[in-house]
Amino acid sequence: MKDISTHKLERLERLIDGARRISIVTHMKPDGDAMGSSVAMYGFLRSCGKEDVKIVLPDRFPSNLDFITAGLPSGTILTHESGARAAEAAIASSDLVICLDFNAFHRADRLEKVLRSSSAAKVLIDHHLNPDRAPFAVSFSETEISSASELLYHVLTAMPQIGGDARRLPAESATALMTGMTTDTNNFANSTYPSTLEMASSLLAAGVDRDAILYNLYNRHSENRLRLMGHMMKDLLTITADGVAYIVLDRKTQLEYHVEEGDTEGFVNMPLSIESVKMSLLLKEDAGLVRVSVRSKKGISANMCARQHFNGGGHENAAGGRLYIPGDIADVTQAAAYVERHTHIFMTEEDEK
Ligand code: 5GP
Ligand code: MN
Repeated sequence: MKDISTHKLERLERLIDGARRISIVTHMKPDGDAMGSSVAMYGFLRSCGKEDVKIVLPDRFPSNLDFITAGLPSGTILTHESGARAAEAAIASSDLVICLDFNAFHRADRLEKVLRSSSAAKVLIDHHLNPDRAPFAVSFSETEISSASELLYHVLTAMPQIGGDARRLPAESATALMTGMTTDTNNFANSTYPSTLEMASSLLAAGVDRDAILYNLYNRHSENRLRLMGHMMKDLLTITADGVAYIVLDRKTQLEYHVEEGDTEGFVNMPLSIESVKMSLLLKEDAGLVRVSVRSKKGISANMCARQHFNGGGHENAAGGRLYIPGDIADVTQAAAYVERHTHIFMTEEDEK
């Protein structure tokens, strides 16, 4: 690990030792990696004897991840969306804030303001490109890695309490780390490095029940979700002459299929199974904006496309962004034309390189 030095680990250890109240914060619309790394950090801090630790979320996490949070004492997770005051108070009164799986405060959305005004020491553990390190007393940022959960695994196992032995991780942390790595790699389909398999091997040897994780992640969905997937791939998918696949999922369709947070996870990758498709976008209508997910094949930068055309960013082959309504488009019916125009500009510029 390039970015895990003894010096930084010692600083992290000192910050944890000296902290009385700690907030763990992750990005908006938290996914498996965001929740996995947060729950794992929580378990570790509790095992260090820290009593006042909260996980503070900008908004709700998908219910299919509740198996990793089920064992937490009630009141551990504070969600700004449903309790702004308590969430802000937790961060404002913390002396240590640990930021996981995001590279800049604006990615914490509703929590951005309180993060900026907090005088607590802050720690970053993240795997996205272009991190804003300035606000952080210590930052661990690695992009050649599967997930924030994997990076956290390497940080935690390097701490003296764990001493390189994954069996010493609290059981709930080990399960949460395996979960975050599994969702961010799409169950080992992408971003899988030698270090990722080493982590998986050590966690399995430490007794993590991977079958139970896979069951919880992939075999507990609703019938609606599968039928929606069929509808999206059959009726809503467009493929442009530039080899860009895109789907616009408007609110009406989301209501029709009772779409819940996390239900469309993974769908954006599916069109990449077509040989001629080089990049895939999923646009989901939300309040005042359309959320954009971008995935690309080797040689095409989803990150650059999201940065240049969709007010976002992320990783080289998996990124996200948004189109503002009004602003970028007047309403969702214009999303398709926007995608066609902007991906054409992007793909033809890529070709010229
Ligand atoms: P998703 O499509 O699953 O929402 O996001 C794909 C990846 O890009 C995730 O790792 C996510 O954290 C990241 N991402 C999504 N939106 C943004 C954004 O606006 N900025 C940055 N830097 N990363 C993003
Ligand atoms: Mn992640």
